[in-house]
Parts: sequence; C-alpha cells; structure tokens
Amino acid sequence: MKNTLENKVVVITGASSGIGEAMAFLYAAQGACVVLGARSTEKLQLIAGDIRAKGGRAVCCRVDVTDPAECRELIETAVRTFGGVDVLICNAGISMRALFDDVELDVLHRLMDVNFWGTVNCCKYALPYLQASRGSIVGISSVAGLHGLPGRTGYSASKYAMTGFLETLRIENLKKGLHVMIACPGFTASNVRFAALTADGTQQGETPRDEAKMMTPEQVARIVARGIRRRKRLCLMEAEGRATHFVKKFAPAFLDRMFYMVMAREPDSPLK
Ligand code: NDP
Repeated sequence: MKNTLENKVVVITGASSGIGEAMAFLYAAQGACVVLGARSTEKLQLIAGDIRAKGGRAVCCRVDVTDPAECRELIETAVRTFGGVDVLICNAGISMRALFDDVELDVLHRLMDVNFWGTVNCCKYALPYLQASRGSIVGISSVAGLHGLPGRTGYSASKYAMTGFLETLRIENLKKGLHVMIACPGFTASNVRFAALTADGTQQGETPRDEAKMMTPEQVARIVARGIRRRKRLCLMEAEGRATHFVKKFAPAFLDRMFYMVMAREPDSPLK
C-alpha cells in the first residue's frame, strides 16, 4: 500500500501524550518528518529524542495552542527545519465533566480556547504552506462532535465549532487542492479524562471509565493515517462512531436517550 506520509512534514499538536504521542511515533516510523507541539517541553524532548534515536526525523516546539504567537512559532519551526508543511494535525485538546447547571462559565471558555481556538490559531499560520503543498488539515474531533454528549457541554460545543470551521475552510479551498478531514475517535485510553475539568475548573484526576476497554492511541493513529492517505472528509473509527453517525440521521431522539443512558451509567455520573 502506498505510504503517503513518507517524507511529508507532519505537524502534530498535543504530541506530548496519548493520541498525539502515538501519531508522532507511528508517522515518524513511516518516514514522516514530525514537528511536535505541546506545553510539556520535557516530555516532547524525550519523544523527539526517542524518535531520532530510532533513525526518525523529529523536532519539537513548546506551544500553548491558545496563544496565536506560539502557534505561529510552531509552524515556523516546521518550515525552518523541514522546508514546509504537508499535514497539520490539530489534536491538542482537553475535556470536562459536569452538568451545565453546575459548571463555572470559565470552564466552557477554557474548552473553547484550547479545542476550537487552538485549531483556528494553528490553521491560520499553516494555511499558506498547506495550500502550497496541497496538503491536509486533520481536526481531531470526537464522537462528542457528532452528537451532544451529556456532562460535556463545553467539549461537544468545542468539537462542533471545530467542524463548522474546518468544513468552511474545506469549501473555501475547494479549488486549491487542500484536504480537510475531521476525525472522530470514540473512547480512547489516554490522559484526557484524568486532565478533564470539573465544575469548578479543577482537574478530575481520575477516570470514570475502564480505560482497558477502550481503543488504544496507536489504533487511532493508524486509522487517521489511513484517512489522510485516502483524503477522507470524515474519519470514523469504530462501532460507536459509525452507529452515532448513522442513527443520528434517522432516529436522533433515540440517540439522545442512548447517550443519556450510557453516560448516566458512569460511576459518579452528574446525570444521576
Ligand atoms: P491526552 O490528555 O493524553 O493528550 C492531550 C494533549 O493535548 C497533550 O499532549 C497535552 O499536552 C495537549 N494540550 C492540552 N492543552 C494544550 C494547550 N493549551 N496547548 C497545547 N497542547 C495542549 O488526551 P488524548 O490523547 O486523548 O487527546 C487528544 C485529542 O483526542 C483531543 O483533542 C481529544 O479531545 C481527542 N479525543 C480523545 C478521546 C479519548 O477518549 N481519549 C476520544 C475522542 C477524541 P500538554 O499538557 O503538554 O500541553
């Protein structure tokens, strides 16, 4: 099978952990030049060093995606080091867990700042290079970006906002050969639930779900790579995502009840 990531310059935000880290290792092993961004500099340096030690090409750059200037620097690092950008993966993200009744509004602002504005900021500075390379933008959304997930208002809203932004960008660039893909993982074992914000904005520090029964970040990384290769618009990963996408078209009220039921079953669910 043709490996379209070979010699491509792939910028990955949120590369210090979970799905982003798995993409960094996999895509570097497939011959890509990976440019890794996140706030945890030490973790990034370890990952980039490990990739280079295995013969791969990697550079890292500290970036808080809520800061446009730091996003510009991430993209410029890619251009200075590897000469351009072929793929931008907007993966950096945070989650939350609280009912809207209880949540501080700051929590929702924070979700939008990282998940939505982080995506916009990186796209803004990468776009000219991606137009030149006729490359790909990948937004790592979620099943919560396909249908509202109770207890995650800010999270679902931020992922829907990403979709609105990215779809529009795709259409604006229809004649410029830009590929835009929205990828929707289901539950994936990572740090995201430990770091998720609670009603008062503090981190949850634990996971309410069985992480051993989820997809692995490596599986997600492989599916995203296939989606990029096929230049897909929407990348669904597993049964939950496919079912959500399908059932929403024909029985959205049924899907509401299913989502409520599933999330109410979580230990300490705010829905109880
Ligand atoms: P992790 O918590 O393991 O990783 C999140 C990454 O985002 C980290 O590298 C973190 O790095 C980075 N990040 C967070 N805030 C910022 C910021 N302000 N600026 C730059 N980087 C930031 O979670 P996942 O790997 O699971 O999450 C990756 C993406 O996948 C997210 O967009 C998430 O919404 C999505 N997703 C995850 C699912 C899951 O069940 N795991 C399911 C569906 C979607 P650092 O703290 O060093 O900045």
